[in-house]
Amino acid sequence: MPLKIATATQSKFAKLGIHTPFDLVLHLPLRYEDETRITRIADLKPGEAAQVEGEIIHSEVMYRPRRSLVCQLQDDSGILYLRFLNFYPSQQKQLAVGKRIRALGEPRMGFFGDEMVHPKCRSAGEATPLKQALTPIYPTTAGLPQATLTKHIHAALNELPLDDTLPEAIKKRLHLPDFDASVKLLHQPPPNIDEDTLLARAHPAWMRIKFDELLAQQLSMRVHYRERSLRVAPKLGAHNKLTDGLLKDLPFALTNAQKKVWHEISNDLARPHPMQRLLQGDVGSGKTVVAALAALQAIENGFQVAFMAPTEILAEQHYLKLRDWLKPLGIEPVWLSGSLKKKDKTAAAERIASGETMLAIGTHALFQTSVEFKKLGLVIVDEQHKFGVQQRLALRGKGAEPHQLMMSATPIPRTLAMSYYADLDVSVIDELPPGRTPIVTKLVSDARREEVFERVRAACLEGRQAYWVCPLIDESEALQLQTALETHATLTHIFPELRIGLAHGKLSSAEKAETMAAFKAGELQLLVATTVIEVGVDVPNASLMVIDHAERMGLAQLHQLRGRVGRGAAESMCVLLFQQPMSELARARLKIIYENTDGFEIAQQDLRLRGPGELLGARQSGVPMLRFADLAEDDKLLNKARDIADEMLRDFPVEAQAHLQRWMANEPDYLRT
Ligand code: ADP
Ligand code: MG
Repeated sequence: MPLKIATATQSKFAKLGIHTPFDLVLHLPLRYEDETRITRIADLKPGEAAQVEGEIIHSEVMYRPRRSLVCQLQDDSGILYLRFLNFYPSQQKQLAVGKRIRALGEPRMGFFGDEMVHPKCRSAGEATPLKQALTPIYPTTAGLPQATLTKHIHAALNELPLDDTLPEAIKKRLHLPDFDASVKLLHQPPPNIDEDTLLARAHPAWMRIKFDELLAQQLSMRVHYRERSLRVAPKLGAHNKLTDGLLKDLPFALTNAQKKVWHEISNDLARPHPMQRLLQGDVGSGKTVVAALAALQAIENGFQVAFMAPTEILAEQHYLKLRDWLKPLGIEPVWLSGSLKKKDKTAAAERIASGETMLAIGTHALFQTSVEFKKLGLVIVDEQHKFGVQQRLALRGKGAEPHQLMMSATPIPRTLAMSYYADLDVSVIDELPPGRTPIVTKLVSDARREEVFERVRAACLEGRQAYWVCPLIDESEALQLQTALETHATLTHIFPELRIGLAHGKLSSAEKAETMAAFKAGELQLLVATTVIEVGVDVPNASLMVIDHAERMGLAQLHQLRGRVGRGAAESMCVLLFQQPMSELARARLKIIYENTDGFEIAQQDLRLRGPGELLGARQSGVPMLRFADLAEDDKLLNKARDIADEMLRDFPVEAQAHLQRWMANEPDYLRT
């Protein structure tokens, strides 16, 4: 930092995320105190902070009910009691009888009359000037007094160049105030400002800061997007040989939404630049077949495809499905997962390296360094949010520059997609295949567990199948396993007449596959499972799901789990068993999942409940979070920032660069790692 700051203070600053002088400028107040005027004691209103000035006419240390310093402050309108529970001798001296002081605090009705508890006091002479601006109160950390922070921030405001990075024309068009004036106003608001709009972050000065932040984010994402669109990737044109073959063999026709996204992907693949497309679609919207088509278009062009899923169950399901679909076309995928025997793994890796196999399906084992692709043209990542940015990029490094298709069944609210995924193209499947019956959701208190047992029994005896999802135990995997085993034992005892399976994360993959196959074939009627079935499991005959202790689960998880039923023609039901007492948050979640079935709506509400950091999951690592703008509130501003980012990159590159420099100087450039 060029501004002179003691080393000890610097380390405190670091705790607050202040690393450069400019960070000081952006360290905005939490709230303000008004020391710009004096209120007469007679005019004080209980609960409304105010500053009074007067003379101490009485001061004494009282011992009941607690040791405290009690003073009386008098002005020409009345008397106010000042009370201090903890006090220093120096304070006692400052508040001695005859002293003239200013006290700032919140008045309330006390035992003796109006009082302020722990007011902020300063000595005042007849000529002591009032402050010209509201007093900022900053977020701070232990050992860093407000005064020190304020001093350094003022220095930064005075010494740093705060020129505008927004071109004049754009500023005018958007009716945004100057940057310089905006930060100064927020640090030192004039006395008559409307404090409520300030605290609600709705003041034009706040709008400017939020806009600049969103603009910086959009600029950095769009810069990356542009750079990538200049890189070279193999052109994988549509020859429609294999893809038409698959379409002809399918027992269903694509929905219009599937056709639309397939068209977008097919066009991307044919371009000589790497595709980076996010395919979004609610659970059950039919993303897998679109992925299969993309794979076939790559294979038609003689390029290999890697298809990766986050869990073995899901990866294996994709493997089995694609093997069936592609067999008539003469394509045999290879399966690769961490749990394969070393010998089999080596054999799989050899088939990939030799180019003998065109399609590799598996878990993250696919991007381990020992796996080399001969001619990788396309990477497909299912449930991309389960993977970190790093893992995805590692896979990208496997070929020259393969195309990437990422799929997500956790719908991403529009604003979130527009901000944190602005470096990607996004396709959305916004329609479910026909013939699905809506899922009925029931909220049932644990006190009525017996009734739920009867419902499960009845459904299974009618030839339908059911899931029983075990409670989530966050703290420990061992406990989670124990709970699954116990639940299985209990249900086996309750339903001696049913065939019951158990799936959990600690089973070997062979055992897991066996259980899933038996459930799919209808040999098992009830599947007791942990949340390993959360992603992707597809058994159309299963039409009842019970989620035990649903109050412990997150919204995305509940939505994913519920999406496992309602896949066939039968009327489906999801029972959310909950146990009291519940936190406010848990109650809010259950209400949302009960009232909504649309994944995008649920995601939007989840964004409100939890904020973007939680929602983004793995992607958040390394991605700078927004500090000022709020995606749930500021979507108009976000829309503008997006348009302006493109306009600036096109027409005002110098300003765009200056803006990025100002806002992103600290950020590790995660996009380039
Ligand atoms: P998700 O988008 O959740 O990954 P899947 O790809 O697993 O969904 O598809 C869910 C089910 O719907 C699968 O059984 C799939 O074969 C079926 N399906 C996909 N597309 C269609 C369609 N257009 N018409 C009918 N069924 C379809
Ligand atoms: Mg899927």
